[in-house]
Amino acid sequence: MLKMIELNYPLNALEPYYSKKTLELHYQILYKGYVDNTNKVEEKLQKARETGDFSNIKCLEKDLSFFGSGAILHELFFENMGPPIPTEPDIDLMNQIIKDFGSYDIFKNQFSEASKVVEASGWGILVWIPKWQKLEIVQCEKHQNLTLWGCIPLLVLDMWEHSYYLQYYTERAEYIKAFWNIVNWNVVNKRFRSINNNI
Ligand code: MN
Repeated sequence: MLKMIELNYPLNALEPYYSKKTLELHYQILYKGYVDNTNKVEEKLQKARETGDFSNIKCLEKDLSFFGSGAILHELFFENMGPPIPTEPDIDLMNQIIKDFGSYDIFKNQFSEASKVVEASGWGILVWIPKWQKLEIVQCEKHQNLTLWGCIPLLVLDMWEHSYYLQYYTERAEYIKAFWNIVNWNVVNKRFRSINNNI
């Protein structure tokens, strides 16, 4: 069961930059909702797995992405804030920022500008891409549409039509059945083992 993270600071610790009232609403009500709902979805998924009834799976997976990503992103957000005592990227992160963005100021500028123009509800996010060994900034407009943020892909199945149509036409199930015969678990095992090196 997913638990709410404890804040490392009192609710008024971010003032005047982030008011106590705002943090109360954000942490105690909105974030709590994401965590509670993630747990409800996990319960429903557990039930589906037990009964083998996956008739509602599309809806459940969407809810998992929406509430789960909401929970994870808020966790990261609350954790990457703190009382207004100046801190800065350490030498390793600073070097990476300079390498990937040019300078710390340019990075801050891009992050600010990208965040400013996020359409409607969303997030500005500095991300590390292990595959590219590179930092990037992404806008996240609808966090549920992208992924379960914070997750690390282990096993991937391409469900775009180009991947199966020529051979399986509309028979998605046949394609998926065939896929299990060509999964290379040695590679998946390696990915799973290397998770801690990649984070
Ligand atoms: Mn929020």
